[in-house]
Amino acid sequence: MRIQLTLWYTGILAFVLLIFSITTYYYLARATRQRTDDSLAETANSFISNFNAESTDEAQDNAANETARGFRSRDRQVIVYDARRQVVVASEKPENLGLENNWFASSELQPQLTALFASASRSGRAYGNLSLGGKTNIRVLAVAVPVGGQNYIFVFANSLRDQEQALEQAREAFYIAIPIALVIASLGGYFLARKSLAPVVVMGERAAQIGASNLDQRIPVPENNQELGRLAGIFNQLLARLDQSFAQQKRFMADASHELRTPVAVICGESEVTLSQEGRDPAELRESLAIVNDEGRRLTRMVEDLFTLARADAGEYPLVLADFYLDESVNECVRSVRSLATQKGLEVSYQPPAKEIPFRGDEALIQRMVLNLVYNAIKYTPAHGRVQVTVRQNQDKSEIVISDTGPGIPADAQAHVFERFYRVDKARSRDESLNGSGAGLGLPIAKWVAELHGGTIVLDKTNREGAAFVISLPSPK
Ligand code: ADP
Repeated sequence: MRIQLTLWYTGILAFVLLIFSITTYYYLARATRQRTDDSLAETANSFISNFNAESTDEAQDNAANETARGFRSRDRQVIVYDARRQVVVASEKPENLGLENNWFASSELQPQLTALFASASRSGRAYGNLSLGGKTNIRVLAVAVPVGGQNYIFVFANSLRDQEQALEQAREAFYIAIPIALVIASLGGYFLARKSLAPVVVMGERAAQIGASNLDQRIPVPENNQELGRLAGIFNQLLARLDQSFAQQKRFMADASHELRTPVAVICGESEVTLSQEGRDPAELRESLAIVNDEGRRLTRMVEDLFTLARADAGEYPLVLADFYLDESVNECVRSVRSLATQKGLEVSYQPPAKEIPFRGDEALIQRMVLNLVYNAIKYTPAHGRVQVTVRQNQDKSEIVISDTGPGIPADAQAHVFERFYRVDKARSRDESLNGSGAGLGLPIAKWVAELHGGTIVLDKTNREGAAFVISLPSPK
């Protein structure tokens, strides 16, 4: 990325410099040419006025000779042509012109001169470039001067050598300055890219070191860099969430194995004792087997609950959606526990809503949720108590309230009852396992089912005598 940024930066700068130098060179060349032409015109004017001062009607050629002889220039030469385009006189050739003597007699130039004479005769004055030896090297100004009724042509020639040299120097300056500027700029660009990306490198290195064993570590948040600071912050939040869910998973695993150990230990202990004693009577054997069977069932339920929660966490629980009446479904649950409650000396009552409540959801799960709560109520309420199940329509939601006259839930435990494996009193929970494993998974499963259906489940804390759970489910539109 650093190299890419530097290359882009240098590329764009090179492009800008190129455009800049081409434009500059173009204007420089134009200004130089203009200057040469202006100064040629000045030379011509002063020569012609000198000539006019010298000339009399009879001796124009002489006047031309005189004026030409007096003409001195560092890099210019004037050649006077008469009406027949014969050279009358040429001023002394200056060293700087860089041409041979009588260069203007060269046959290579004749067609160029003829064209120049023609356009000067037509318009009085004409600028032109003359090429000798294949390259343009002379700038000329031809002026038609009327002499004794005839048109003489005065040609002022100026070497282009100085001009070429100036432009050549400008080109050279660009050839040298541009690469140097680019090298400096790319070094600077690389340095800047490196400096601004340095925090990313540090963040990357730190992130690479973070694994399952040290999820509590965080990525350094670069100061004075809002964008990267935000990125690091988001990364850290992600890490915090991962850390949390990882810790949760670990706790879940630890709790689950801990819970599974008890029934397995009981089964092994009971069967070992039974096997080690020979000649036990059938009643004793039956008793042992009943214990093993009980624990086996508990184990099965616990594994089922764990499996349900694991699938729920993975979002893989296979939902079976159907339309049914909520009140009817809850009533069925109440009916199914009635005999059990009677056995325990409890009274279970069901209070239906004013009107049937049509509902769409997974009926088996809804019943499992209600049963978990009803079984809890029965499990924790002592004999002669009451368990009341109410279904009611409350504005845009349906509520199922399960209340009992049991001991209720202590204030310090209220916040935790929906946590996995949480039990207020382990012995009591295990004691009479009516349903569920007694491992503290009944309420978490109920909560998951309620949330899965877009609802909530809360413990009614205003209830002072016994426990009351309120399930709220959205009414179908
Ligand atoms: P468990 O399998 O232990 O019943 P739950 O998740 O269903 O697990 O319940 C968690 C704990 O909440 C129980 O151990 C119990 O202490 C308490 N609890 C739940 N329902 C009631 C209730 N109706 N009355 C008193 N305590 C309850």
